[in-house]
Amino acid sequence: MEDKDISYLNCVHCGKCLPVCPTYRISLNEFYSPRGRVRLILTDNNDVLPLKVSKVAEAMSTCLLCGRCVNICPNDVKIGDLIINERIKLNELQDNKFSLGAIALKALKNKRKILLKSALKIANIPIINQLNRRFVPNPQGKAFISARNYRFKADRNGAGGKREEIRAGYFSGCVFNSIYPQISADTVASLVKNGVSVFVPQMQGCCGLPFISSGDISSFKDLALNNANAFKAQDIDYIVTSCASCSYSVNKLYPLYFNKNDEGYSEVLNFSKKLLNIWSFFKVLEKKGIDIKAGELQKETDAVFHIPCHLLNSPEFKPSSYNEGLIGEAGLIVDKIAGLKLKPLKHNYCCGNGGMFNIRHYDLSKEITRLKFEEIKEAFPQNILTSCSGCMFSLSDQRGILKEQQGIPVNHLISIYAQSLKE
Ligand code: SF4
Ligand code: SF4
Repeated sequence: MEDKDISYLNCVHCGKCLPVCPTYRISLNEFYSPRGRVRLILTDNNDVLPLKVSKVAEAMSTCLLCGRCVNICPNDVKIGDLIINERIKLNELQDNKFSLGAIALKALKNKRKILLKSALKIANIPIINQLNRRFVPNPQGKAFISARNYRFKADRNGAGGKREEIRAGYFSGCVFNSIYPQISADTVASLVKNGVSVFVPQMQGCCGLPFISSGDISSFKDLALNNANAFKAQDIDYIVTSCASCSYSVNKLYPLYFNKNDEGYSEVLNFSKKLLNIWSFFKVLEKKGIDIKAGELQKETDAVFHIPCHLLNSPEFKPSSYNEGLIGEAGLIVDKIAGLKLKPLKHNYCCGNGGMFNIRHYDLSKEITRLKFEEIKEAFPQNILTSCSGCMFSLSDQRGILKEQQGIPVNHLISIYAQSLKE
């Protein structure tokens, strides 16, 4: 970030951001609101009042970085960026070396993939005494990224005849590599069936979001550079991810926190420009005139799609079907699955994950998830679909939070699509 962000000066205290903030909605406490956090940052930056570091840290760390306040603020207060900057500052002041979060982060950064699964398990344990009350997802089988670079050849039969080969990289992110590797396999299979050749480099790792959201900018930059280098020698125009949080980190935060004089600046920016979330990539294929393959489910089913806070449509996106109107670009794939009926969610509340938020503030996170399930309950779906690793964690963890919801499976939409192509 080149210039100091002083957009806190734009805040006129109108309060428009309060009702959309998941933590304010639960607590009704200004301290846990976007406006309150902005006020604290302004005070801290201008030394208006002496503030207790631990209190400021608590207000900042209870933000999920969901971005809902930023979207609604009429005065362009960059609340999320201000909160990350404040966390970076606090990280330098505080010594968190021995916190559970810090231990999990340390393990996550380790490039030895064998440690990653245990790291993700540690990272998913909120606090030790809550261990027995919580569902911790078991890693499903082998990690997706293998010990070498891998190329998946396009299925030319499924690609609507002869046309120019489309090559894309696949960025899995750490959770879809180790905890839910099937989602990575389903993403790659869906791309290949649509005539895309996919390159998966071995050296890719965590996108860095858990680090920057904990204020550790140096580890964040190391990981960003590692990912950019993993893909840089390849002749590919696109890099695809099926995790909304990874795309938020790579598309929004990499350009924001890399300065021109940082090592690997242009590689990182190039990587960031090429990366698209899977739904935007399918829209690109459609624009290129590619007929996206249709599939069919053996048994008709209905579902709600939880739109992750970090799932962004391309800026020029205009919905052209009922499903796209309901959930954005992902609706294109729902249109291609015969036998899947989408039910609307009234508010599309946040799921309560927020990455490290779910680890540090498990009880508050759970309250936010409970509200999510209240709206899911109204839709009464057979399935819950989404497209973010964090959302999958929280929704799976809490799917029994309301008694009536006990058995609802939580899946990534790409897995349902891959399944429909096989049937
Ligand atoms: S919506 Fe924007 S201007 Fe209004 S209180 Fe919130 S941060 Fe301030
Ligand atoms: S980013 Fe989300 S949790 Fe954080 S202050 Fe804004 S609305 Fe609240």
